[in-house]
Amino acid sequence: MSDDIILATEGLTKDFKGFTAVDDVTLRVRRGSIHALIGPNGAGKTTCFNLLTKFLEPTRGTITYNGRNITATKPTDVARLGMVRSFQISAVFPHMSVMENVRIALQKKRGESFDFWRSERTLDTLDDEVRNLVGAVGLGDFVAAKAVELPYGRKRALEIATTLALDPEMLLLDEPMAGMGHEDVERIAALIRRIAANRTILMVEHNLSVVASLSDTITVLARGRVLAQGDYATVSKDPRVIEAYIGA
Ligand code: ADP
Repeated sequence: MSDDIILATEGLTKDFKGFTAVDDVTLRVRRGSIHALIGPNGAGKTTCFNLLTKFLEPTRGTITYNGRNITATKPTDVARLGMVRSFQISAVFPHMSVMENVRIALQKKRGESFDFWRSERTLDTLDDEVRNLVGAVGLGDFVAAKAVELPYGRKRALEIATTLALDPEMLLLDEPMAGMGHEDVERIAALIRRIAANRTILMVEHNLSVVASLSDTITVLARGRVLAQGDYATVSKDPRVIEAYIGA
């Protein structure tokens, strides 16, 4: 497979007691792209994500990341290889500040345990890195705020910051815009674009105008199968896609 493909599946299938939630899915995610997985409710998007990040075992099929077969690799090892899922995996401590949350995530990446008694000098160096990350996700004005006090959209930005602290090569975002108002959607969309400047993103997202404006490639799932794949202009005109959405 070409080096251009960072993540690929062949015949990926998941049966739940006779019900096939993901059915023979072949996926190709290009390095450096923003790739969206869309489809009506029950299409198999979440199951697919769970298979890719190894939270579920496939019934059949293979998953390849950077040319390496990761079908039997543990979730923590997949994250170590550079593919990290945001929102479900990144723990945000609600009663800690934005700075503390990002600092803990950076320390985790370095394999250190969180230590309140580190010398100020060491903390200062780490804090430069923390500030960079906090600024990168647009939380510069919220450094001292507790996670629990943040407005919803800012909380998602914090979750993305704690994921970025792990320095992943590829991010899997699970409905990054869910439940957001227009302003937050715009802010997170801009953030995703900035992240994608030097990383690959695979996201499940319901907001089709966001999908249209952000994605290089879209895979449409329906009843567990790939219905269409391509850019927005192509898939949105596909009669099978229109039917799946209207008929859902
Ligand atoms: P989507 O994320 O596209 O809405 P899901 O992947 O959540 O779809 O679900 C796809 C189908 O698989 C649904 O019909 C759902 O009911 C079924 N499903 C998901 N998880 C399980 C499970 N653990 N056991 C049985 N059926 C499941």
